[in-house]
Amino acid sequence: MSTRIWLSSPHMSGREQKYIQEAFDTNWIAPLGPNVDAFEKELGEYLKINHVTATNSGTAAIHLALIILGIKKGDDVLVSSFTFSATINPIVYQGATPILIDCEPDTWNMDPLLLEKAITDRMSKNKKPKAILVTHLYGMPANMQSILTIARNHDIPVIEDAAEAFGSKYNGISCGTLGILGTLSFNGNKIITTSGGGALISNNEEYICKAKFLASQARDKSTHYEHSQIGYNYRMSNILAGIGRGQLEVIGERIAAHRRNNALYRELLSDIHDITFLTETDKAYYSNYWLTTFVIEKPTRKLNREIIRLALAEDNIESRPLWKPMHLQPVFRKLPAYVNGVSENLFNKGLCLPSGSNLQTADIERVVRIIEDCHVSQK
Ligand SMILES: *Cc1c(COP(=O)(O)O)cnc(C)c1O
Repeated sequence: MSTRIWLSSPHMSGREQKYIQEAFDTNWIAPLGPNVDAFEKELGEYLKINHVTATNSGTAAIHLALIILGIKKGDDVLVSSFTFSATINPIVYQGATPILIDCEPDTWNMDPLLLEKAITDRMSKNKKPKAILVTHLYGMPANMQSILTIARNHDIPVIEDAAEAFGSKYNGISCGTLGILGTLSFNGNKIITTSGGGALISNNEEYICKAKFLASQARDKSTHYEHSQIGYNYRMSNILAGIGRGQLEVIGERIAAHRRNNALYRELLSDIHDITFLTETDKAYYSNYWLTTFVIEKPTRKLNREIIRLALAEDNIESRPLWKPMHLQPVFRKLPAYVNGVSENLFNKGLCLPSGSNLQTADIERVVRIIEDCHVSQK
């Protein structure tokens, strides 16, 4: 059996253990502690954002963002439909209604035209949406200029789910820092990882103070445990923040490696004209290319996404269909949705290729050879 090639596996730098060792040496094996403080500071410096709360997941960070904006039962939140379910679930935790917005064909992210249409439509029903939650999928920034303009015109706050887009930039500004609040994930499959973790980021100090308070059980100032609000246990531990610090030291190399993988796939597969990669459309977009993704534009019985996926699996290579849009998920099917068919088409025709920063050129060549074989054997 050939060695396993993973879709996106953790890639340690070797520097993580120094910070973990420090935590052990000082017996700081608690949630919070010096690594958490330092990780938050270092994240803020890297992203050029003033305030950061490290959380125990990206999902927790999204939940906190919604709570801080006062999203509650009966409210509507406009949200990308082409995303991972973790973007949507926290809206439901709050008893609010996700209003699903389909994507545009070039960025695969929230379509500004449909966003505008949804806002107009909801307003005509006397239901002004309380927030826009936009995902930057697979590392590709959403069309933020249009989305922020629409949001400003209607005075609706924007939260960015930058779980997959850590280090990606839009017009030179880091994804997650363009809206009023941004969320990150450091889950094991993301571009850098703390094994599990996330962060909520903002330039609004009050928001992040509130997030830190709520995320550590909402303890009022007192020597005993005094509570006047419902709290959450959402903070990152001092050990995991140590891993994050070691990972953050090599983020530049990691992004470079993901972008190199992406460029190599494009180059090696350039003869197959039916393959279209998710691509930066112009200079405003800088993707971390967390995953390299493509669609087979005109699938046939002999050459389609599944044929390729199964051929790769046969050779012990992990690949995965693109996200199944939320408006097609059994659990979300009844939600209001503004749909144009784009994400459904992507789901039917698209594939995520192995994209880890620890892949060797030979690994990528092995993947490409199998795709080429599929292409040749269809003729
Ligand atoms: C991974 C991911 C999340 C959730 O992050 P966790 O840290 O796994 O909770 C949210 N949104 C998107 C788009 C993601 O890919």
